[in-house]
Amino acid sequence: MEMMWITTVCPICGEVFEFDVPADGYRAWQEGELIQNAMPNLAPEYREMLMSHICPFCWDAMFSDEEEDNEYEYDDYDETGFNPYIGCYDYDC
Ligand SMILES: [Zn+2]
Repeated sequence: MEMMWITTVCPICGEVFEFDVPADGYRAWQEGELIQNAMPNLAPEYREMLMSHICPFCWDAMFSDEEEDNEYEYDDYDETGFNPYIGCYDYDC
């Protein structure tokens, strides 16, 4: 299979990534085919680098940021009525 060498620069971290993709699939994608149909064997993170140029590391960083945001909700615990001095919920005591 003819392969095509791709170089992308991540817009977030500025890292350069190089990898090869099937040349016929790449051409089909350029001509308007959906990338998952044009290159079904290409890993999703590489498809993402072709489309948005964002590298897998920056994707991971973005997703882990979201998780941290979700965990950072201490106020919710207070609203449940948990009493740290007794070690139980108010409605349980
Ligand atoms: Zn990056």
